Amino acid sequence: MLQNKRNTGSALIEKIAETKDITREELSYLLSGEDEEIIQELNRKARETADEIYGKKVFIRGLIEFTNYCKNDCLYCGIRKSNRRAERYRLTEEEILSCCESGYDLGFRTFVLQGGEDAFFTDEKICGIVKQIKSRYPDCAVTLSIGEKSRESYQAYFDAGADRYLLRHETADAAHYGSLHPKEMSWENRIRCLWDLKAIGYQTGCGFMVGSPHQTVDTLYEDLQFIRKLQPQMVGIGPFIPQKDTPFGGEAAGTMEMTLRLLSIIRLLHPPVLLPATTALGTIHPKGRELGILAGANVVMPNLSPVGVREKYKLYDNKICTGDEAAECRFCMENRMKGIGYEVAVDRGDFRG
Ligand code: SAM
Repeated sequence: MLQNKRNTGSALIEKIAETKDITREELSYLLSGEDEEIIQELNRKARETADEIYGKKVFIRGLIEFTNYCKNDCLYCGIRKSNRRAERYRLTEEEILSCCESGYDLGFRTFVLQGGEDAFFTDEKICGIVKQIKSRYPDCAVTLSIGEKSRESYQAYFDAGADRYLLRHETADAAHYGSLHPKEMSWENRIRCLWDLKAIGYQTGCGFMVGSPHQTVDTLYEDLQFIRKLQPQMVGIGPFIPQKDTPFGGEAAGTMEMTLRLLSIIRLLHPPVLLPATTALGTIHPKGRELGILAGANVVMPNLSPVGVREKYKLYDNKICTGDEAAECRFCMENRMKGIGYEVAVDRGDFRG
């Protein structure tokens, strides 16, 4: 009986890998199944798939959280505009460039500029910063993650030299989106942004939180189908973690088990995708990032932000690494990856689709 179930599980994993598709029922089976062996096989198959394309390498991205001012009021996010407890900060252009300088010396060849939607950083300022980074470090990629903008703004950043853009779609289900965001925010606009980014030519990343309030197998199924349709170069998923000063402060966090299963499924549905093992995953479990890599992820994003501001970029409670210098994070990550048989790659780590 158990052996039959295992054979069915193995056949299903093979089928998903072969067709790069999954049905609602198959997803439900893999997310609710309790047979550890089947889940381990899912993780193993995803890891082998990533190894075939990227080898035993993990790409590192230097994350620079340059502003926590935000005009949006997402119900889950610690830097939402209504959170009066958030201590606001902005890095100056010089501070951002100095993060890149120390990052470059540490072997980073991708800088991710992430922040809230902060009107202080006009398109002109963003373009100026991107141009500065690209002229000082022409062998590096610049990733922007600064939210929803017009197509013209995205085009301007791209023309200034930005290579990649991360914008999690948050959920592919419009009603679910409505339960996570205030009514001023629109799911249609978020999705429009992603299609614009792809059309312009960015290496584009979408993604979602695992275990966000009101998420169901059905909404996750929509997420996976959206990924299949968009064919993004990157997908960022990590567990939802409550932040006590937000409306979702009392909600349950997403789990590591569910995040690992979804990382593996995404790897099988879209084999060349750049898939980070996120800081949120490392926050809910001390070995979360290592286990994420072993489940098929192939990117980690150590923090390059100045230590003085890290505690303030608090999207969720108990965020890790807020007291560590950039160099500590970099070498800690190298050791963690070595510990599971992987090497941190010193290159841009582009998509190999
Ligand atoms: N403003 C930009 C945007 O909207 O894409 C980038 C910054 S935003 C804070 C980055 C991501 O953090 C969001 O897309 C969301 O998925 C994630 N995030 C926010 N609050 C979170 C929480 N409580 N737990 C886990 N992830 C969270």
